[in-house]
Amino acid sequence: MELNAAVMKQWALRINEKMQEHKDKLSELDQAIGDGDHGHNMARGFQEVANKVGDASYDDIGAMYKDVASTLISKVGGASGPLYGTAFLKAANAWKGRDVLDSAAFTEGIEAAVGGIETRGKASLGDKTMLDVWIPVRDEMKEHGADAEKAAKTAEKETEATIDRVAKKGRASYLGERSKGHMDPGAFSSQLVFEALAEVYKEGAS
Ligand code: ADP
Ligand code: MG
Repeated sequence: MELNAAVMKQWALRINEKMQEHKDKLSELDQAIGDGDHGHNMARGFQEVANKVGDASYDDIGAMYKDVASTLISKVGGASGPLYGTAFLKAANAWKGRDVLDSAAFTEGIEAAVGGIETRGKASLGDKTMLDVWIPVRDEMKEHGADAEKAAKTAEKETEATIDRVAKKGRASYLGERSKGHMDPGAFSSQLVFEALAEVYKEGAS
């Protein structure tokens, strides 16, 4: 797998399109086990990202994703803004100075992103958070190399798996056992992130 700066820009723009498209579902999921703002947070944050990177021209993918990150950190309220912001900031550091990412370089970014989410949010695998998606995607990439299509499939499966879990971190954890039976909103937004990757990779590669 190889991703150039043009495809990486499309990724950010496609994430935005997906967040706008699924804004209501994201908020409904958060309504059930949180405060109902996840759709608003994601749609607003990634719209700002699209505004910021959409018209700019970047050779350095690290610089591009640094802009993605700082936009999310400054524009998104709630837990998810700083968490996604930190994820992309750590990835940006790993991608610094590169105008193309091969499988190993892309994986390094995802690995760094997961580290950032873990450090910031102190959650673990199985806590019913976005990490329930990011960690298996990272593990698969580390083991088999980065494959956008596989990442999207894994993300979908792992998002589904959050339904049966009890939330241990974030607002949903206040519900304890009653958080069971609902999909985690941040897992679903993370699924959208990897679905966007699979789409733009396929379009860029063909
Ligand atoms: P808030 O919970 O502040 O209203 P959002 O609704 O935008 O923020 O985001 C909620 C999502 O953030 C959750 O569904 C979960 O996936 C994720 N999340 C919350 N806390 C953590 C954490 N400590 N670590 C990782 N992800 C978390
Ligand atoms: Mg919320």
